[in-house]
Amino acid sequence: MSEKKQFRAIKGTRDILPPESALWNWFERQSRDTFEAYGFRDIRTPIFEDTYLFARSVGTDTDIVSKEMYTFATSSAGATSDSGDQMSLRPEGTASVCRAYIEHGMHTLPGNVKLYYSGPMFRRERPQKGRYRQFYQMGAEVLGPSDAPGIDAEVIEMLVVLFRRAGLENITLYVNSIGCKECRPKYVEILRAELRKVKDQLGADSQRRIDTNPLRVLDSKLPEEQPIIETLPRISDHLCEDCRTHFTKLRDELALRHIDYQENWRLVRGLDYYTRTTFEVTASGLGSQNAVCGGGRYDGLVELLGGPPTKGIGFAIGTDRAILSIQESGKLPHLPGVAVFIAWMGQKAYPTAVAMAQKLRECGLIVEIPAEEMKFKKSIGLADKLGAKYALIIGEDEIATSTYALKRLADANQQKLAEPELLEYLESERRGL
Ligand code: AMP
Repeated sequence: MSEKKQFRAIKGTRDILPPESALWNWFERQSRDTFEAYGFRDIRTPIFEDTYLFARSVGTDTDIVSKEMYTFATSSAGATSDSGDQMSLRPEGTASVCRAYIEHGMHTLPGNVKLYYSGPMFRRERPQKGRYRQFYQMGAEVLGPSDAPGIDAEVIEMLVVLFRRAGLENITLYVNSIGCKECRPKYVEILRAELRKVKDQLGADSQRRIDTNPLRVLDSKLPEEQPIIETLPRISDHLCEDCRTHFTKLRDELALRHIDYQENWRLVRGLDYYTRTTFEVTASGLGSQNAVCGGGRYDGLVELLGGPPTKGIGFAIGTDRAILSIQESGKLPHLPGVAVFIAWMGQKAYPTAVAMAQKLRECGLIVEIPAEEMKFKKSIGLADKLGAKYALIIGEDEIATSTYALKRLADANQQKLAEPELLEYLESERRGL
């Protein structure tokens, strides 16, 4: 006898089941509606790309590229001469959007190109609450000729509006400027020199980063490193004139939009492509993985990937964490459940019951109808368990009189209605269901 294997979702991945999936759909709908109100349009890119695309954009020294990507060889049968020999499941969305922007010549489109995406991302991280190996992001990007700080502020405003709309109230927005390719390298050298002086007091990761990526030391959460980091030189004192002006104007633009934020000089973000504006949103109720959104400007990225000179800014919301935070807040949106359960009895009632289900669904109501005849009590019991608001009773008597009994399950209130009144009544109730 063969042994029966119990299959389970792979470590770091999970199933999103009803009723939670309804909350996901709701949040994604709020996001899409918000993004579209700001003129953003949907882009769908593949979930795997040439590994080199991510190495080039995210950076080879980042944790994401150096140790977290799911990479596999391109099979020789499918390989074409211009494809790389390795591909990876996407760890983030910006690189793919920039690749698509270049590939489809979107720089010729009028004005700024405003795109949003939603979908799974993959990183081989140590799984814990709020950190998965397959997780979901909703992101938005603005690509085009302008780097006006008003664009940065509008993107941030859109994010704040979405979080407010989604009921994510306990959030904090952090903003920083990490300079450009003129001033940042000079600051990095100053930082590196200072870090070398305190090297012995730092942990192994930070010691390594002094050479590979000193900015990342500022990201450290190690308690013993915190007092040392506080004494390090700050980028705000080393920004060039243009970056300083850009950051000042960004602050003005945020004030104009009444957006609350905190400046955080340590917000350098984990990806190599950022320039100038960086921002992050944290939410309550998430423990250590409390960042629900990260973003920033990436002016040189399109060029780095072989495209024309292009400015860019964007963000990615961690959908899993946004959902967790909404759940933790306890302020869940009202999501529609089963509106009408059709309790039919007798084969003569069945065709009318089916027709009625069709009409009610056409009106936008959620309708359940048993496919097999059930005893009245059992039928009402099931309607109750499914959380139906009404039971529509259709038996042979109802067929004979062409009136139907509509029972409100919460209080057993029952009314007899002819079809036109029934449809009118349920239609008017629909908004409240
Ligand atoms: P990042 O660009 O890496 O800062 O990612 C943007 C957002 O995606 C973060 O603020 C998180 O909300 C979310 N995120 C990143 N990695 C994970 C993960 N492994 N699991 C769940 N959410 C993640």
